[in-house]
Amino acid sequence: MATTLVPEGLNFELPEDLKLLKRSIREFVEKELWPLSDHLEEHDEIPKAAIDKMKDMGLFGLPFSEDYGGAGIGELGYCVALEELGRANSAFSNLIGAHCSIGVMALYLDGSKDLKSKYMERLCAGEKLGCFALSEPNAGSDAANIQTSARREGDMFLLNGVKHFITSGDIADYATVFAVTDKALGARGGITAFWVDLNQPGVKRGPKDRKMGLYGSHTCELIFQDAKVPADHVIGQIGTGFITAMKTLDMGRLSLGAGCVGGSQILLEKAIVHAKERVQFGKPIARQQAVQFMIADIATKIFAARNMVYHGAWKADRGERFSIEAAMVKRYCSDMAIWVVDRVLQIHGGMGFMKETGIERAYRDARILAIYEGTNEIQRMIIAEELLK
Ligand SMILES: Cc1cc2nc3c(=O)[nH]c(=O)nc-3n(C[C@H](O)[C@H](O)[C@H](O)COP(=O)(O)OP(=O)(O)OC[C@H]3O[C@@H](n4cnc5c(N)ncnc54)[C@H](O)[C@@H]3O)c2cc1C
Repeated sequence: MATTLVPEGLNFELPEDLKLLKRSIREFVEKELWPLSDHLEEHDEIPKAAIDKMKDMGLFGLPFSEDYGGAGIGELGYCVALEELGRANSAFSNLIGAHCSIGVMALYLDGSKDLKSKYMERLCAGEKLGCFALSEPNAGSDAANIQTSARREGDMFLLNGVKHFITSGDIADYATVFAVTDKALGARGGITAFWVDLNQPGVKRGPKDRKMGLYGSHTCELIFQDAKVPADHVIGQIGTGFITAMKTLDMGRLSLGAGCVGGSQILLEKAIVHAKERVQFGKPIARQQAVQFMIADIATKIFAARNMVYHGAWKADRGERFSIEAAMVKRYCSDMAIWVVDRVLQIHGGMGFMKETGIERAYRDARILAIYEGTNEIQRMIIAEELLK
């Protein structure tokens, strides 16, 4: 007998266009990106030909509206895409994430119509690359304490200060830069977001940071010495920069969670194959309950994480507030991804420690997830603050 218990509007099935998108990105990842894993590890760079193919796939415009040449698939569609991209080496999702999720997202969310008309199309096509510059050597978790300053001179602002750990800072053409315009007002009213051309004499790029993982994705310092920003390149209003930063990071945290889901899913698939093939004590290790329980727990956490991401993205697309969901997604999915890779490595035994399985790379790459886009301690603070206010 047909059930009538499903409330109207509650539907966990992805729409057909997103199913198609999911399939096409999965195929792209398997055909074009998987074969590059060793290259990324050895050379610490994504080959230009691969970036060109990512452009052709429209990956640089995924979350943005078709008016600007984007894919027009909303945050849910973007998360579905990032979940699939997360099945590849993390450098690829980092490149897209730094550009779409945060770098260009701030411009998209709060930039003036003129500013967006001028820049968005080439950014969506991947002809120009964006990045997000908030963190400073003395202001990481305490982002409200940034020191980079912006001083108005005529129809220009002059930026001075240092941003650090900026993903794609070495190759980006533009950055959303957060700077102090009125020290006395602090974060609420004293910080402004600027859309900054990085290819100008007032901007220096530091050397690539030497990192634990994420080879192929680089971070570096951006040093501003009287860097010029036209006054009409303010994103939002003077003094609303901190709100723009937080709004942008909310979006970024959902798609970061999506990448965690995809990265964990591929590891689960590897663990299942290995557990069925590896024979010890005369039978596949998959027949050992201890291994079965690890696999069951991994799958359960991925299931929970995926639903959290989709729910957060659904709220974002409905225009509802989703800051608490974004913080929960970021906290849960990143911890989940770090835990999953540890368990999958365990299921692989000594082979998991060897480079050829790719699991030790995923283990190194996962660790940053609990740190960037706001550490997981900061996410807990956001969640608690919202609940206890
Ligand atoms: C690979 C990589 C890529 C990055 N990409 C970017 C980028 O593109 N753009 C950008 O702007 N930034 C970027 N960052 C910076 C990143 O967002 C910061 O590293 C992060 O926000 C943490 O800041 P911090 O490193 O200064 O740590 P700190 O703020 O010094 O924190 C150190 C520890 O103290 C804890 N802590 C701090 N304050 C509190 C508190 N009040 N309560 C409880 N615990 C607390 C933290 O949770 C953490 O465990 C990147 C960093 C890395 C490593």
